Amino acid sequence: MRDRLASQIALVTGATGGIGRAVVHRLAAEGAAVAVSDLDVARCEALAKELTDVGARAVGLALDVSDEEAWRSAVERVVAQMGGLSVLVNNAGIAEMRTVETETRDSWEKVIAVTQTGVWLGMKYGGPAIERSGGGSIVNIASIFGTVGGFGSQFSYHAAKGAVRLMTKNAALHWAERGVRVNSVHPGFIETPHSRELWQGTPRHTALVEGTPLGRLGRPEEVAGAVAFLASQDASFVTGSELYVDGGWTAR
Ligand code: NAP
Repeated sequence: MRDRLASQIALVTGATGGIGRAVVHRLAAEGAAVAVSDLDVARCEALAKELTDVGARAVGLALDVSDEEAWRSAVERVVAQMGGLSVLVNNAGIAEMRTVETETRDSWEKVIAVTQTGVWLGMKYGGPAIERSGGGSIVNIASIFGTVGGFGSQFSYHAAKGAVRLMTKNAALHWAERGVRVNSVHPGFIETPHSRELWQGTPRHTALVEGTPLGRLGRPEEVAGAVAFLASQDASFVTGSELYVDGGWTAR
């Protein structure tokens, strides 16, 4: 497994968050060169340094996924500086705790801009770069909430993640004969520093654990493993698919 992604060049968005950090570590551990992107460039550079300190090739760069110009220049920079692009992980996403009734125009547009439009822009600029680099894989991080209605809250987040699920299939068909595979990963409830802060010690935490057939929350590394599989040649016949990393939550 150590060199499964050797010679791959990956760009990961939202890379300094809970899941993103595990993804960049896993891709680098499997031999990929990694462009670590997020809003805060200092955090990206620090994480890239963690990777270079253990012998990986990595750079940190600022990328607001809702900004089209930022996408254009980030992809150009990765291709120029790292020698191409073969794996894109559209991981950045945000949510607001609002329902169909309490969602506001502002909260809707903010969530859609990052969680949905950000993924489209990533594919629009990343896909052609991957094709020009000789083919590869796009992995879009969706959610179980892109497939089921959850708790009737986080309305715009469900809208965006549902769109990510279908944009993935549409783009997979578009690029099917051109060497670019596109798949979505659907995490369930994953324990990250952010989610721990929100859930730990609350009745919600107990409900999430009890509602998950495997009886616990997931770990970011378990999502990263699914991403690495889809990024690799082990998934060479896998495109347009949705991979659930949810401890069985959506099986019920
Ligand atoms: P997280 O810890 O909040 O990380 C998200 C990262 O995205 C943060 O570093 C955040 O930066 C960054 N970000 C926010 N707005 C951005 C923008 N406009 N452009 C680029 N980056 C931006 O979240 P996570 O739990 O790791 O989630 C990662 C992905 O998994 C998301 O798509 C999320 O919806 C999905 N997911 C998570 C879970 C879960 O249980 N954790 C479950 C299902 C799906 P700042 O910190 O500076 O805002």
